[in-house]
Amino acid sequence: MTDTPPADPDDVAPAVAELDTIVSLSKRRGFIFPSSEIYGGINAVWDYGPLGVELKNNVKRAWWRSMVQERDDIVGLDAGILMHPQVWVTSGHVGSFSDPLVECQTDHRRFRLDELPGAEGLSATDLQDPGIVERLGLKCPVDGGPLSAPRRFNLMFKTFMGPVEEDASVIYLRPETAQGSYVNFKNVQQSSRKKLPFGIAQIGKSFRNEISPGNFVFRMREFEQMEMQYFVRPEAEAAAAFEDWLPARRAWYERFGVTPSRLRLREHAPDELAHYAKKAVDVEYRFPFGWKELEGVHNRGDFDLSRHSEASGETLEYFDQATNEHVIPWVVETAAGADRAAFTFLIDAYREEEVRGETRVSLALHPDLAPYKVAVLPLLKKRPEIVTLCHAIKTDLQRHTMAVYDDTAAIGKLYRRQDEIGTPWCITVDVDSLDDDAVTVRDRDTMNQERIPVEGVTRLILDRLDAARAR
Ligand code: ATP
Repeated sequence: MTDTPPADPDDVAPAVAELDTIVSLSKRRGFIFPSSEIYGGINAVWDYGPLGVELKNNVKRAWWRSMVQERDDIVGLDAGILMHPQVWVTSGHVGSFSDPLVECQTDHRRFRLDELPGAEGLSATDLQDPGIVERLGLKCPVDGGPLSAPRRFNLMFKTFMGPVEEDASVIYLRPETAQGSYVNFKNVQQSSRKKLPFGIAQIGKSFRNEISPGNFVFRMREFEQMEMQYFVRPEAEAAAAFEDWLPARRAWYERFGVTPSRLRLREHAPDELAHYAKKAVDVEYRFPFGWKELEGVHNRGDFDLSRHSEASGETLEYFDQATNEHVIPWVVETAAGADRAAFTFLIDAYREEEVRGETRVSLALHPDLAPYKVAVLPLLKKRPEIVTLCHAIKTDLQRHTMAVYDDTAAIGKLYRRQDEIGTPWCITVDVDSLDDDAVTVRDRDTMNQERIPVEGVTRLILDRLDAARAR
C-alpha cells in the first residue's frame, strides 16, 4: 500500500506496493486471465475476462471520445493488421526494429541487455558496443554463466500469406498501428477534405516478439495501441503541436483519475531517439516496478510520408491552397497502449482502508471507466416483490448503461464485492421501498447513503455519470 517508503527520497510511492495484489484481484474477479491457462499458459499473452473487457472498452471509448468525437481536426481509421511487406522495409522496421539480446552460454536463456542487473540506464551508444558485456562484467542473472556479446533481435512476428511457405510470401503482424495511417494519408485527407493541421486516430492490435516480456500486462507480445498521427506544416508548426500535445496527453490520464504525482515526463536523450524521431518525450507512470513509459509523444518530422512517397512512387503531399505550395507534412504522434492505460487506471484506483475493524478494498475508478456503473441489490431476496422491483429498476438502467443485479450474499458482502470491482453506485431495495416507492443509493467512495424515489433512479445515475464525465 501507499505507506511503503520509497528508496529515493524524491520518488513517490506506487499506489500498490506489490504487483501481485493487482494480479490476484484481476484473476479472482474476472478482469484478466493468463491466456490458454488450461494448457499451462502462453508467455506474455493475457485474456480479458468479463470485467476486464468492460474496463478496456471504456478506456478505448474515453480515448476515442477525447481524440476523435470531441475534436473537429481528427478523424478515425481502422487499417488492417496485415500490410504489404514493403511497408515495414520502408518504415525501417525490417532493418532496425530490434532490441539488444544476450544469451547465457550455459543455460541458453536469453535476456534483453538493458534489462540485466548492472546494465540499467546504459546509453544507446553503450547498448551497441559489442564489448559491453565484458567491460561491465555482466553475468547470467539465473545461473551466473557467461553471456554472449549482444546481437540485434528483430521484434516483428513473421508469417506467410497464401498457401505457399516461401520467402516471397513472408508478411508481418504489424508492430504498431501508425503505418496504416501513413499509407492511408491521401485516402483520408481527400475523402474527409481535412486541411492541415489534422490527425488520424487508430485503435488496434499490435504484435511484438518481446525478448523479456513481463510485469503482467505491462509488456505483452500481443497488445492494443491507441495511436494518433497529427499532420502539420513543416518544422515550426510541428514543434508547436508537440508542445500542445504533450501536456494534453498527460492531462488525459489525470482527467480519468490517475494521481498527478505518479505521472512525469521524460525526454529521450539524442542517442536514444528512434531512427525516425526528431524529439520524443514519454509520459511515465510510477508502477510498482518503477517509473515506466505509459505513452510516447514523438515529433517524427517528414520521415514517414517522404519515405513512403519515395518507395511507393505515390506522392504523399498536401497542396496548400492558401500559399499555393505542395508540402510534405510533418507528423506529431501520440502513441499510447490500451492495455497499459487500463492497467494504470486499475493500479492507481486500488484502495485499502480500515472500516469498523475490517479491511475494505475498493477500486476508485472514474465512473466512465468502471465496468458496471450501478448494481441493484435486494435487502431480502426472499420477498418476491423486492426482487421484482430490483429487476424493473435494473432493466430500465440497462437500456442506458451497464447495470447488474446480485442477490447471492447478505447486503454487507454484496457492497464489498461491488467496491472491489469499482462499481460507483449501489441501489438497495428494502421492505420500506414497497410502501414508500423509494430506494437507497450508496456511493462507493464516501459510503454515504441517500433515499430517493424509484422513478428518479435512472435519471440520477445518468446525471452523475454525466457530471463525472464533465469533470
Ligand atoms: P517500450 O520502451 O516500453 O518498449 P516503446 O517505446 O517501444 O515501448 P512505442 O513503440 O512508443 O513503445 O509504443 C507506444 C505504446 O504502446 C507504449 O507507450 C505502450 O503503452 C504500448 N506498448 C508498446 N509495446 C507494448 C507491449 N509489448 N505491451 C503492451 N503495451 C505496449
